[in-house]
Amino acid sequence: VTDKINSLPNDAHYFSLEFFPPKTTMGFVNLQNRLERMSQALRPLFVTVTWGAGGSTATKSLELAEICQRKLGLTTCLHLTCTNMSRSLIDDALDQAKVLGIRNILALRGDAPRSEEYRDEAQLLEGDSNNDFTWAIDLVKYIRKQYGDYFCIGVAAYPEGHSDESHPEHQDPLFDLPYLVEKTKAGADFIMTQLFFDVEAFDKFETMLREHESGVFKTIPIIPGLMPIQSYQILRRTTQLSHAKLPADMLTRLDKVKGDDELVKKVGVEILDEIVEHIKTRPSTGRRGFHFYTLNLEKAVSHILEDCHLIPPMFMEDEEAVTASSSPGNL
Ligand code: FAD
Repeated sequence: VTDKINSLPNDAHYFSLEFFPPKTTMGFVNLQNRLERMSQALRPLFVTVTWGAGGSTATKSLELAEICQRKLGLTTCLHLTCTNMSRSLIDDALDQAKVLGIRNILALRGDAPRSEEYRDEAQLLEGDSNNDFTWAIDLVKYIRKQYGDYFCIGVAAYPEGHSDESHPEHQDPLFDLPYLVEKTKAGADFIMTQLFFDVEAFDKFETMLREHESGVFKTIPIIPGLMPIQSYQILRRTTQLSHAKLPADMLTRLDKVKGDDELVKKVGVEILDEIVEHIKTRPSTGRRGFHFYTLNLEKAVSHILEDCHLIPPMFMEDEEAVTASSSPGNL
């Protein structure tokens, strides 16, 4: 990922897209078709594949990562969590990622699994957990120890602070800061943020990192995480889960149209366009990137990318590939 970022022109913008593994075979077929369309039409710099906490989606995450990296030729970043996971599952995931040609891992702590889905795999893991991994930094160190520089490692950060059951009172970026410094020093190559709508919180957060006395955040890519608004209900649920604030003016605009799904999506795209355009105007160390939590959906993110001129031009080889794949012989 960072090699690709560094090879872009200095004033270029880039973006990445997140996908999660579907539960069913049919879901996989549909997603693969969608991914094929999206990768040709939108040309993300890279895609990321989520990992169910505790390894609950291990097989399916690797299956999706294989589709992205191998079948579709997309630069793929595999999310990997480390709590409630056996060391052998972590080793297997990293080994398999390497075999698949995946060079990027988003190293995360993870939460306790939230539901009973993927129960078979979860049961297999029972009794095989370990205490080696408590925080994401433990995974960053482990990957560096086992694999040297083979993997480009991303880590998570929280512009509005992080809150969980282990210390719910600490939803404060200042509380997380020393741990983020250590996590970055341990070997992170890029930082990807939790989703947010409060762009002022991101501004403050990014400035705080860039100016930090340790100097570790001076040039590291800090990629803001943005979630296209798919529906009023999904928005309320995800903001609740992620603790992202919805600024009052945005809420008012969405509240006015909340009975009409199409209008919610339209206003949602306008809101995301404004956030992207605002971030684009901020002074940037290096190329400016954006990460989109797609929820495996295509339309809203495509509109935002188009409106904000984030889709990179098609290169000659891409054009030839598209022409070849859509020639009558291949239909
Ligand atoms: P850490 O960096 O370990 O930090 C977690 C919290 O602990 C922070 O508040 C930090 O300040 C604190 N902390 C860190 N070290 C210490 C210490 N030594 N002592 C005391 N406190 C400490 N979850 C999934 O299950 N699957 C995914 O695919 C997934 N993808 C994600 C992608 C992104 C971009 C983001 C932002 C989050 C993602 N998550 C995912 C959620 C993530 O696993 C949770 O938010 C988790 O609770 C924290 O993970 P972390 O890697 O930030 O943890």
